Amino acid sequence: MTIAYHVGWLIDGTGIPAVENRIVAINAGRIREILDPGDPRLEGMAIIDWSDCTVFPALIDSHVHLVMSGTIEPTFRRKQLNSTYTVRREIIAEHLRQHLASGVLAVRDGGDHNGDTLRYKWDSANNPPPMVTIASAGRARNALGRYGKLIAIPVDEGETLVNSAFGTDSKRDHLKLVNSGLNSLTQFGVESVPQFDENELAAVIVAAHRRGQPTMVHANGHLPVKLAIDAGCDSIEHGFFMGRENMHRMADHGVVWVPTAVTMKAYGDYLKAQGHRSDPSFSEVSRKNLEHQLEQISTARNLGVTLAVGTDAGSPGVHHGLSVKEELQLFVSAGFSVEEAIQCASRHGARLMGLSDRGAIAPGMRADFLAVKVPPQHVPEALHQIVHRVVEGRTIDLDTAF
Ligand SMILES: [Zn+2]
Repeated sequence: MTIAYHVGWLIDGTGIPAVENRIVAINAGRIREILDPGDPRLEGMAIIDWSDCTVFPALIDSHVHLVMSGTIEPTFRRKQLNSTYTVRREIIAEHLRQHLASGVLAVRDGGDHNGDTLRYKWDSANNPPPMVTIASAGRARNALGRYGKLIAIPVDEGETLVNSAFGTDSKRDHLKLVNSGLNSLTQFGVESVPQFDENELAAVIVAAHRRGQPTMVHANGHLPVKLAIDAGCDSIEHGFFMGRENMHRMADHGVVWVPTAVTMKAYGDYLKAQGHRSDPSFSEVSRKNLEHQLEQISTARNLGVTLAVGTDAGSPGVHHGLSVKEELQLFVSAGFSVEEAIQCASRHGARLMGLSDRGAIAPGMRADFLAVKVPPQHVPEALHQIVHRVVEGRTIDLDTAF
């Protein structure tokens, strides 16, 4: 049976400006057609009236850590990490509920030390399986003694990166590599050295691609980003202080950038809330980092780099679900139109996750969409007020969705 929705404005996920007054016809869980309200084929068809709403594709967060919460309470964070999988699987389920509540229907996970998210994805106790689609890196890889313990396991001494990634523990949706340190939170623009050299990176990326695994690389600073792009990675995560030359490289090679700007906003807010307990210059540094990242986002947009909205949810102050709204607003403040920002949080995320029938409202795509009662330009700030959710053609009531 065909169901038709009369929508006030349609943002289709391709980045084009919103179109007023459309009919979205769906059938068997897929979009069948987008029609004009006067189309004679609508004769006799029951039409659901959402003419006071803007409709847009269900969202995708391209960078999360599902097992970690965005809480800023250090003792709570430690307790979470030292718990058992039984406890942590409940934490993951709660985070997925938060994503769904914020309109996020797919998440790309950047790894956790115990591989809990990958385990959860295939856990037969999840019945029915989670409505939010998960792509998981399992455990990421970092270099011995370098940054990354929370999300990765190190390459053992005497072992190659390829052996570490594709030895015993090789089942995953994509490979995550850590190729720099954290962005410095105490000194503006301080860069760390790469964790791996270009040959190691190229070898592991070739091995991953041979197995159908895309590669996401955590990299900040000029050299760590350059090496990852030259080695053939699929996406750069964070990319703070990577510089214009790397953006040209990304545009040329079709590498996607996931800037996670909201992490700096969250950290700045957190430090400010700490008041006298933290050095005031630290919050100044995160503010400057954020400003610099927004400038980079603006430049990347002008250079034709493909960007995806990813939040790093699970980092201090970065909450699952809610932070997608903030990252979208940051993209808009950096010069993206609302429609382009939504494309980065739908179509571009679907591309990174290999979900070819997701992230756009167009004939043949899966019917996953959301409605808010505001005009298109106010969609980002209205994301906590989603009035309708359609998943695979079915209207979802949040109270009974889990
Ligand atoms: Zn991350």
